[in-house]
This record gives sequence, C-alpha cells and structure tokens, in this order.
Amino acid sequence: MADTLAKSNQTKRWQEMDAAHHLHPFTQHDELAAMGARVITKAKGVYIYDSEGKRLIDGMAGLWCVQVGYGREELAEAGYKALQELPFYNTFFQTTHPYVAELSQKLSEVTPKGIDRFFFANSGSEGNDSAVKIIRYYWNLKKQPKKKIIISREKGYHGVTMAAASLSGLTSMHPQADLPLPGFVHIVCPDWYGQGGTMSPDDFGIKTARALEDKILELGADNVAAFVAEPIQGAGGLIIPPATYWPEINRICKKYDVLLHVDEVICGFGRTGKWFGSDTYGIEGDMMNMAKGLSSGYQPIAAVGIGPKIGDVLFNAGEEWSHGFTYSGHPVAAAVALANIEVLQKDKLVEKSGGTTGDYFQKKLASLNDHPLVGETRGTGLIGAIELVKNKRTRERFDEAMNIGYRCRLHCFANGLVMRAIGDTMVLSPPLVITEAEIDELIGLARLCIDLIAKDIGVS
Ligand SMILES: *Cc1c(COP(=O)(O)O)cnc(C)c1O
Repeated sequence: MADTLAKSNQTKRWQEMDAAHHLHPFTQHDELAAMGARVITKAKGVYIYDSEGKRLIDGMAGLWCVQVGYGREELAEAGYKALQELPFYNTFFQTTHPYVAELSQKLSEVTPKGIDRFFFANSGSEGNDSAVKIIRYYWNLKKQPKKKIIISREKGYHGVTMAAASLSGLTSMHPQADLPLPGFVHIVCPDWYGQGGTMSPDDFGIKTARALEDKILELGADNVAAFVAEPIQGAGGLIIPPATYWPEINRICKKYDVLLHVDEVICGFGRTGKWFGSDTYGIEGDMMNMAKGLSSGYQPIAAVGIGPKIGDVLFNAGEEWSHGFTYSGHPVAAAVALANIEVLQKDKLVEKSGGTTGDYFQKKLASLNDHPLVGETRGTGLIGAIELVKNKRTRERFDEAMNIGYRCRLHCFANGLVMRAIGDTMVLSPPLVITEAEIDELIGLARLCIDLIAKDIGVS
C-alpha cells in the first residue's frame, strides 16, 4: 500500500517466513501478507533502520518504552555481565540474588513515597494480572471477601491477559475472547477533547471523577475492591485528565475504602516530566504497575509496587503467597533495568523531560496548532498528541471510514517518521534522550505528513 518499493531478496525471504509462520500481535494478517511486514534490523539513539536500509526517527520510542534510546552500552554490558555470572536463578522458596535485591532497593528510592515493596513479572499485562490477584487476596485477608468488583475506565489500556484485558476499556478487545470477566466494571474517562462538549475542562474533570463515586454508590462500597487507572491514558488516545480529576479520585477512593491501583506502564520513568505520572498529578495510589520504561524495553520486565496499607497485610499473612512466575525478577532483566535507572539518573533524563527537553518538545508540538487540520495539540514532558479534525472550532471529527489517522501514519512511515495513529489522534512519545535538533526533525516531518494528508483530501 504505502511503499511498493522494490524489496531486496533478503527482505522478501524474511517477509515470506514471517507471513507463513508468525502470528502477530494486534495485526490483521491478510492485510499484512498483502503489504509485507516492515523488517526492522537495527536501531541507534532515536533512529530505527529497516532491512532496505531506510532510516526512521522513532517518535514512539518503540512502544512507548525506549526511554534511554537505542544502543546504550551500559545496558548491554549489564545484561552481558549477568548472563555470564548468573544467567538464571529463580526467586521462589526463600532464594534471591544481587540483581533483584538491588533493583528492589533502587525502585523504592525512585517510586512515590510509601511504595516500597515490589513483585516482579515479565510484562505489563502480567503485572496487572498479578495486581488483580493482590487486590483480591488483600480483601480476603481483611475478612471482607465481598469487596471484589474492580472499576476501571472506558478507553483504558491495561494489557491483554484475561484479567488485564478485562480491566481494559477498549471494547474492541473484548468480544473475541468473551470478555470482560465477571466483576470488572467500566466508567467514563476524562476525555475532554472528545466528550467534554461545551463544559470547561475543570468541570468535566470533576464530573468524570464523580462517575466513580456514582458507580461505587450504585454497586455498594462493600462490594467494590479497587479502582484501576493510568495517570494519562496512553493507548486509548493520549487522554490527559483536567487538573481537577485526580484530586477528586484520591478523595473518593479514600472515602469508600476502595484501593487505588495506578497503571504507570507508560507514564513511569520520566515520560510525563517527573519520575511517575503519580508525581505529576499528585495521585495517592495504594499500589502501582510498571513495565516499558523500567528497562527501556531492553529486557521484558514489570514490577508491581505496593504501599504500606497492602504491604503490611501481605507481609504478615502468616501463610505462603501462592503466586509467582519462573522468571519473576530474572537476573538479566533485573540487571538491565537497574542499569537503565542508573542511566536515567546519571544523564538527568527525567529532569530534562520535565525541563529543557520537554519544554522544547511541547513548544514545537504546539506550533502545529496553526495547521487547518489540527484541532488540538496536548502533552506533558515527552509525550504528546495531535488531533486531526474536520472542524477546529466544533472539534468535529472526520468520518471514520476516511481512515485519516491511519493514512497519515502511512505517510509518516514513507517519509522517515514513526508516529502512531489512534483513530485520528496522532501520538508522539520519543526517547527521553532526544535532542533539540532531533525534535525539530520530528515535528518537521509530522507537519509534512499532516500537509500530505490535507492535500489528499483537498484541504489547504
Ligand atoms: C503497554 C501497557 C500495558 C501492557 O504491557 P505489556 O508489556 O504489553 O503486557 C499495560 N498497561 C499500560 C498502561 C500499557 O501501556
């Protein structure tokens, strides 16, 4: 479709093997076979390279995760050293190893106050599944076994395993696997741009937070175990809550004794300009989930952090906790995650995301607002979105069938930029190491591709 460039024989061979034998995540396979998968062969800094030698600037840091950029020696060396010294040992049955002990200690330093104990998994989805089990177990230990319903939000994304997909509020994920499971309930989200109408963002923030209170009252606080949410909703369309939203959520969770589980898988490790989205928005979570930026994606690892309310109960349960993965706290993954956090600290990447680099990125992103197709830009730190709309004033969107976002993304690929399309919301989440010159290139290419889609549909 987008680029019908001649492909080398090597690329064709990989594409054929892949098409014949590989079931891809989030992919329509007949479409993929017709197009031929893009084969990414290497990456350095903020750039990825495909098997045809084409260079693309990675505006998405992989899948929102490569905070320190590609090709960092410190991470490679930490992984290599662990592979030589202790390629595997488990953390079951009263054993541990230096890598996981040191990572746990480091996480207790960088996570919000009170989050001091960590359980390790291998993906964000496993982290959230584990969190659901922790929540259920907590209320069982508290002798309130009726408190079991978990509330999350429309357009929330929490992963794909059975419980994580049940938490997710992207409804297209549900029917293929007959989800959500019983006991998972969804409420509206603070999507002001899409659903706020004529309300002010602040009023809309309060209104959408009170939807939690209404739902708790409807279900009965005695039946509600937890509220689960991302600080900023990522995969649901980069929904940034109005300033009024989180303080109200904090209040409601406390009032009804509903646990607050914060899904920091995208927002964590500097993405929003502070270490965690919880720091940016003053979220008072009882527990949190981390993955992606935890290892900058160099190794599969996730961590569920728990505060004293839950931790003190779990650590004094007086019985074995029957949960854990063979690879929980894997030494290689733990070593790489620790090296990643050390790079974030040494290079002051979180401070830069919340200061110089983030400010520059936000200023350049906002410069796109003069474009006739751009209804709004929004962002914080090194995350941002561009709304492509039919009518800037009324916020009316294009007919879905026009596939504006998808077509814009194809222009991006063809012109050397990876920018994600969520409907007609274009999303950027570059590596935190991005320089000002690279930001100029990134936003310049974004404008070029928005110009191209405007030309396609005859808007100027
Ligand atoms: C990506 C993501 C997940 C799932 O992580 P996986 O490693 O893909 O399982 C969970 N929550 C949020 C907020 C995410 O963005």
